[in-house]
Amino acid sequence: MELRVLSLYPEQMNIYADRGNILFLQRRCEWRGIGFAWQGAGPGESVDPGEHDLFYVGGGQDRDQRVVAADMVETKRAALAAAVADGAALLAVCGGYQLLGESYQLGAETLPGLGLADLRTIREEGPRLIGNVAIETELDGEPRVLAGFENHGGRTYFGPAARPLGRVVKGHGNNGTDGLEGVWRDNLIGTYLHGPLLPKNAWLADHLIKLALERRYGRRPDLEPLPDELERAAHASARAAAGV
Ligand code: GLN
Repeated sequence: MELRVLSLYPEQMNIYADRGNILFLQRRCEWRGIGFAWQGAGPGESVDPGEHDLFYVGGGQDRDQRVVAADMVETKRAALAAAVADGAALLAVCGGYQLLGESYQLGAETLPGLGLADLRTIREEGPRLIGNVAIETELDGEPRVLAGFENHGGRTYFGPAARPLGRVVKGHGNNGTDGLEGVWRDNLIGTYLHGPLLPKNAWLADHLIKLALERRYGRRPDLEPLPDELERAAHASARAAAGV
């Protein structure tokens, strides 16, 4: 088996050590004897929806998002929508998460989004939403805590069709007011948590690996358990930082 990952705009959308998420996926595959294939798709490059089973967009500053938003809609939107509809997994973090929605409004300027989730992001007056964060989610069928770090000026608001990845236990979440964090629809996940997210929440990495392998090989594999001593410590420390 092989995990096939495509990072969207790895040069532009990669702040806050989001690359660590990819490295972590790679290691968890290698430790289990699962192949790992990674590619990046930058500005102007097209995407083949059948070629990759896990799509990743990392965080980005407003200026990075300005560089990629229109290009992403033009050159990648249709392929991403097709891949996700066909069962591929998609993880979008922070700036990438904002671009999953309909739009990101910065004053008079509105950046287009992929429209893969029913949400909008607005850069309103007010401080950036920064800090350690913990949320509760039932993403893989049982109650779990995701712990990480958030740092965003944009506030994200849902339309009626969106459902959250989880509920905020500590931190700000999507907008600092409604207690919701991230978005989740089948195999599509968007979240403000980085720091990086996956090494602090190893179960989420394994969940994504399973979704992606299921799409390629037709059934959800049982992944060999790993010792995860350091991963448990990383999770505990991220939770403790959030005060949970
Ligand atoms: N530029 C976005 C904001 O500040 C996202 C930042 C990020 O990816 N950390 O809202």
